Amino acid sequence: MINRRRFLSSSAALGGLFFSGSWLTRFFGPGAEASARTPVLDSAADTVITVLHTNDVHSQIDPIPSNDKTYPGKGGVARRATLVKRVRKENPNTLLIDAGDAFQGTPYFNFFKGEVEYKAMSAIGYDVGTLGNHEFDNGVAALAAALKFANFDLVSANYDVRGTPLEGRIKQYVVREVDGVRVGLFGLGISPVALITPDNFKGITYNDPVQVSRDTVKVLRDRERCQLVIAMSHLGYYEKPREGQIGDTQVAQQVDGIDFIASGHTHTFMEKPVVVKQPGGQETLVFQVGKSGIYVGRIDFTVRGGKVIASRGRLLDVRDNS
Ligand SMILES: [Zn+2]
Repeated sequence: MINRRRFLSSSAALGGLFFSGSWLTRFFGPGAEASARTPVLDSAADTVITVLHTNDVHSQIDPIPSNDKTYPGKGGVARRATLVKRVRKENPNTLLIDAGDAFQGTPYFNFFKGEVEYKAMSAIGYDVGTLGNHEFDNGVAALAAALKFANFDLVSANYDVRGTPLEGRIKQYVVREVDGVRVGLFGLGISPVALITPDNFKGITYNDPVQVSRDTVKVLRDRERCQLVIAMSHLGYYEKPREGQIGDTQVAQQVDGIDFIASGHTHTFMEKPVVVKQPGGQETLVFQVGKSGIYVGRIDFTVRGGKVIASRGRLLDVRDNS
C-alpha cells in the first residue's frame, strides 16, 4: 500500500492523472487495478479525458411520464445532474457537451421560451453546446434573450451570426485545457432550408459544414495546438444519406482530424459509437443518444504524449440510482 501511494503521488507530480483504485476498477473492469499498481511510468503519464454528451433533450426537464410505453419515468434534469456529478467525481477531467435542440417539446418551452432549459443546463454544469434548428423556434432575438440564462459557451462554426443579436455570444469554437491537454470544441448547424422559418433565421448565413470543418480543424490543430478535437453536430446521423445530404458520418469521411462527433437532430438511439475512417486513415467516433435526455453518451479518451492513443464509448442510462 505504501508503494502504491508513493507511485500515485509520484505520478501525480509528473502531471499524470490521479486514479483512485476503485475508479480504475469501474472504468477498466476487474483486473485493471492490479495492472495499475505496477509502477510503469508510461501509463502514469496517460491522461484520461471523459466527454459526456447529450442531444435533442427537447425541453424534457421532468422525467418521461410514467405512462410512456417505451421509456417510462426515465431521464429528467435532476437525475442527469446526479449522473454527471458522479462521473466528475470519478474523473475530474470530464467535459459535458450538447449537440443542440435543447428547446421545444414540453410546456416549459412554450411558457418560458428557453429560460428553464438553459438554467437547468447551467446548473448541471454544461461546458459547451451548439444550436439545433429548434433553438430558432421563436426567432433570433428570443434565442439571444434565452442565452442570457446560459452560463456556458455555445458554438457554431458554420452559422455566421455577425450583425445579428447572436454576435459575440455564439463562438465558432472554444479551446479548453483539461489536465494539460488542449481540447478544441466546435459546432455544426444544419441547413435551415425547410426546417427554420426564414424570418426566425434572419441575418444568419449557413455555410458548408465540410469546408468549415476542414478550416476549423486546421485552426484548432495548427494555431490553437489542440490535441483532442471534438465537434458537436446538429447535422444528423444518416446511415443511407440522400444524394447530397451531409450528416455527421459524411463530415467524418471527408475531414481529417476530428476525434469525436457528438451527433444530434435525427433522434437516433445508438447503442455505441460508430467508427468512421477519415480520408487520411485515422478514425472519428460518431455517437448520438436518441432524445429527451433518456441517455447520456460517454467517451473516454486516453491521451499520451499529446496524442490520443485510445478511445472508448458507451451509453449511460439516466434512471434512478444512475
Ligand atoms: Zn433538430
